[in-house]
Amino acid sequence: MRHGNLFVISGPSGAGKGTLVARLLQEVPDAWVSRSVTTRAPRGGEVDGVHYQFASDEEFQNLVDHEGLLEWATYAGNRYGTPRATVEEHMAHGEQVVLEIDVQGAFQVRDKMPAAHLVFVEPPSLEVLEERLRGRGTETDEVIAKRMDAAAVELSHKMEYDMRLVNDNLDEATAELVRYVNEQAEEARG
Ligand code: 5GP
Repeated sequence: MRHGNLFVISGPSGAGKGTLVARLLQEVPDAWVSRSVTTRAPRGGEVDGVHYQFASDEEFQNLVDHEGLLEWATYAGNRYGTPRATVEEHMAHGEQVVLEIDVQGAFQVRDKMPAAHLVFVEPPSLEVLEERLRGRGTETDEVIAKRMDAAAVELSHKMEYDMRLVNDNLDEATAELVRYVNEQAEEARG
């Protein structure tokens, strides 16, 4: 069994983090991904308790007030947070815990847990990013504009991450991420 480690995956919405993390889970048997709480409305096809734990503003505030969140942030007008207890449990069980969160959350995690490994997923270009966001077909122009603004802010922080990968080829990006996670996990074991 390996020691528990914490991996934070950030990058603009539409960069393909979700797909990469799903691939990582298939390839690294002791990887586990945290499920966030959000006040955002579910998109078509999203299921409460699977993609997110969807919460009202009041429920979210209650978690903040009772220190139930390891980190939280407001992103494009909605609040998102990582439940603390499940992350701690899975780390204690020696798992490779993955958080798919924004840059504000990533730096809060680094402050609290300096051993966390921060990975930034870059889209091949801003044009590709916008195409992907439009391609989802689920978001209004206003939401897309907000997400493009947020993307510019996120990209300005990429050099503060421990590792960057460009998601222009899914197989290669997955292989790079899997290699990084395994290397860090093995190092921590030694
Ligand atoms: P989306 O609305 O596209 O699902 O997510 C928007 C952004 O919020 C993404 O960058 C995503 O990584 C981030 N996010 C999701 N969950 C959390 C969380 O628990 N904490 C923080 N800080 N960001 C999150």
